[in-house]
Amino acid sequence: MDTNSINCCASAIREAIVAHEADIECLDREIGDGDHYINMKRGCEAIAGLANELNGLDAPDALNKIGMKLLSTIGGASGPLFASFFMAMGKSLKTSETISINHLAAAFDAGVQAIMQRGKAQAGEKTMLDVLVPVAQTFKHMAEQGHTRPEIAAALKKTASEGLESTRNMLATKGRAAGLGERAIGHLDAGAKSCQVMIHAVCDLVLAG
Ligand code: ADP
Ligand code: MG
Repeated sequence: MDTNSINCCASAIREAIVAHEADIECLDREIGDGDHYINMKRGCEAIAGLANELNGLDAPDALNKIGMKLLSTIGGASGPLFASFFMAMGKSLKTSETISINHLAAAFDAGVQAIMQRGKAQAGEKTMLDVLVPVAQTFKHMAEQGHTRPEIAAALKKTASEGLESTRNMLATKGRAAGLGERAIGHLDAGAKSCQVMIHAVCDLVLAG
């Protein structure tokens, strides 16, 4: 992975988030405060504005810079969480000279662990972690087993969609929906939806070759 591919992923993510505006906006309106789409769009635009600056950096430094930018632009609960993800991913990749698929899987997992620490949350609490934790596990497992990139991308898309769907019947114990009790049941989590959309966008790039 180099900085050019990071910029390609960022632009695919931005397009996908914009294409899912209605879904994401509506979910956070139902069981949150309705700002999640705006937060995500603001983050995507800030990263698009960094593209030239990122080109001068190696992948770990570019990911760290993305994290710092998100920290200062997104706001809400999700801003510091996504920021922690990218900074931890950059830190994890800093230790490897060449970046293999196993390194990427380990870095993704380090990013998810950082979200768990920052948000003091785990899978099963109706948040973005219900998509990210199973995706990190599948990614590491499949990379260790030597699967091809397209096989891994297809499996991660499926895992992300299942993780999103799993939030529907959960009670929320973290985030704004935590105060809603049983009223949150029947609704998907907005942060889980945007993670599913982002993971699909990146995996589709891999599948397109
Ligand atoms: P806010 O909740 O401040 O309005 P956003 O609407 O941008 O911020 O983000 C809400 C999303 O953040 C939720 O849908 C959920 O997925 C995620 N989230 C909230 N709190 C946590 C937490 N402690 N750990 C993990 N994810 C969380
Ligand atoms: Mg919100």
